[in-house]
Amino acid sequence: MRTLVTGGAGYIGSHLVDRLVGLDHEVIVLDDLSTGNLANLQAVRADIRFVEGTILDTEVVGALVADADIVFHLAAAVGVGHIIEKPLGSLIINTKGAGQVIEACVKHDRKLLLASTSEIYGRTTKMPMSEDDDRVLGSTTIARWGYSTAKAIDEHLALAYAEHGLRMSIIRYFNSYGPRLDPRGYGSVVANLLRQAIANEPLTVHGDGLQTRCFTYIDDTVEGTLRAGLDPRGEGRVFNIGNDHETSINDLADTIIALTGSTSSVRLVSYEERFGRGFEDTKRRIPDVRRARDVLGFSAGVSLHDGLQRTLQWWRATHQ
Ligand code: UDP
Repeated sequence: MRTLVTGGAGYIGSHLVDRLVGLDHEVIVLDDLSTGNLANLQAVRADIRFVEGTILDTEVVGALVADADIVFHLAAAVGVGHIIEKPLGSLIINTKGAGQVIEACVKHDRKLLLASTSEIYGRTTKMPMSEDDDRVLGSTTIARWGYSTAKAIDEHLALAYAEHGLRMSIIRYFNSYGPRLDPRGYGSVVANLLRQAIANEPLTVHGDGLQTRCFTYIDDTVEGTLRAGLDPRGEGRVFNIGNDHETSINDLADTIIALTGSTSSVRLVSYEERFGRGFEDTKRRIPDVRRARDVLGFSAGVSLHDGLQRTLQWWRATHQ
């Protein structure tokens, strides 16, 4: 099978590429190396075709999609920090760029796996979050919600084209973490706190640290992605891909300090200090995992403790 992975040099994309190569797929990667990194593909570099380019390039996207049997679309501007710093560029990539990939799949009749996000649900208080739930967002003057909105447009587009024959499935990631997380790239809380703990610097916890997330180890994230993309039972559907174990950011910080043996303490940083005025956070985020389990037979099995330990091992092996 010939498989195109957009964003294949990124944190999740590169792990997906590793698995696909292991499954004997002929893999083509399209990545603009904005937050991705060629070093992520080191182990499989000789087995894949790598194209440095952007999903905004209509010709490149058209040619690569035409050449593939299936497209895993993971290229996106990701990470709350990025979205807030570069709202315009992020919106353009996540709507126009994604639209081109979706439309090329329609034109060439290729199957599409659309990677979306749990940010879709916004700040809803209904837990757990089920795929068909209402979305609850703040004002358009709050840049954060542009990410959710852009990804929702992509989902709407894919769902609407599905009615006209597009073979596709959509997945919503819940806070993935693991090896290759880059504090300078994606900037997630796990990457930041791990880097700070290892450097024995204060761990910057935003707000009161009581906000929660469900952290999902990369092997689980990739397994869910593969199943949703390759299993015909997933076609036409939306799936939450995540672990449903809820952890507060304070508990995450304590666990990371204990695991690393760090002398760091926690420093609470106000949202205003970190993001400026008018920032809104999501207080809790828990996936309803039933659909992915019942339809795809997928459930995330790696505990936070084990996943962090594996991530730490990788960090120590690569950052010495
Ligand atoms: N966060 C934090 N310290 C950091 C980075 C993030 O306390 O150095 C918080 C952030 O404000 C949010 C949570 O950790 O409440 C998860 O943030 P992340 O950016 O990883 O993902 P999100 O779920 O917000 O997309």
